[in-house]
Amino acid sequence: MNSRIQQILGKAVEKNILSKGEIIAVLLCESPHNDALFRAADLVRKRHVGDAVHLRGIIEFSNYCRRNCRYCGLRCANKDLQRYRMTPDAIYQAALDAVALGYRTIVLQSGEDLFYDADTIAALVRRLKKLGVAVTLSLGERTYEEYRLWRKAGADRYLLKHETADPILYQKLHPDGNYADRLNCLSWLRELGYQVGSGCMVGLPGQTPEMLADDLLLLKELDVEMAGIGPFIPHPSTPLAEATAGTAEMTLKMVALARLLLPLAHLPATTALATVDGDGRAKALCSGANVVMLNVTPLEYRTFYEIYPQKERADKAPVTGRRQFDKMLAALGRPVAQDAGHSPKSEFQQAVS
Ligand code: SAM
Ligand code: SF4
Repeated sequence: MNSRIQQILGKAVEKNILSKGEIIAVLLCESPHNDALFRAADLVRKRHVGDAVHLRGIIEFSNYCRRNCRYCGLRCANKDLQRYRMTPDAIYQAALDAVALGYRTIVLQSGEDLFYDADTIAALVRRLKKLGVAVTLSLGERTYEEYRLWRKAGADRYLLKHETADPILYQKLHPDGNYADRLNCLSWLRELGYQVGSGCMVGLPGQTPEMLADDLLLLKELDVEMAGIGPFIPHPSTPLAEATAGTAEMTLKMVALARLLLPLAHLPATTALATVDGDGRAKALCSGANVVMLNVTPLEYRTFYEIYPQKERADKAPVTGRRQFDKMLAALGRPVAQDAGHSPKSEFQQAVS
């Protein structure tokens, strides 16, 4: 093996630090170095967060969105999409069903839909917390006051991906967004004591290895508790319909590098990765990932939450998804975590403060 790559990986395993140049060198290397990278990430994952895989149940409760991100099928300019909103009672029922299937974290996700005002979300969070679960919100950019109210209501985590750390590419992809606003929201979430999740897409049009290295360095700087890294997948009803999808290989390399840089972070094996590669979830779990988010949205809404085209969405009931997940983990020899799956980092911080 190329001795420079070997040296970089050795340093990363021991110190969890890499320079931008070193990250780029790893991103540009090819097989068999990739296998060494995946093995190194797997070792760091085992050493710092163990073998258990944390399961999250995601309820995609509304596909209305006020924004126009150029990559996303939920963008408000997409008139081909049938829109839906679940009532708070229906969301609660979906969460109850998920808890019965053994889920200990409920993720509530939607487009940026102001139909659900701050008090409605806060009341829902309070109800969910009574079920004894951890609650993650992923509702996009909202005000400081709204984030504060939801945190006070008991929300544990917030997922807001930075999408790309390149301000120029960010602006191109988000005609109605602003990179500084995104970072501002992330700093509010941190200040309010959420376990913060961020992340990026891999293979965006115009994205370079330098930009991907900046994504990883930003995640390290933000010291996120969770980093969601998935391939970009073109949606036919968006301006990026003709673009090429991100590859599974580059996504796996990004996940592995994220593990080397953020040894205690929760790293999901994303649905987007499983969409571009049928074995993507298992491969990610062997390359540093330790979390899987499964869809527990009632089947009647599934096809309409079409961020990107995804064949399996409509027909995999929560109980089937859970069964397949258990089978995959058994094949990998990895146990399902039995606790709520809070960040080991925040437990550590609580213990030392
Ligand atoms: N509206 C909230 C937000 O933007 O943070 C949450 C929902 S949004 C659909 C969740 C994530 O979907 C985004 O953070 C983005 O990374 C991902 N996403 C959107 N379009 C995508 C695409 N075409 N390919 C891959 N991921 C996509
Ligand atoms: Fe809306 Fe989120 Fe999609 Fe952007 S990524 S259009 S904010 S749902």
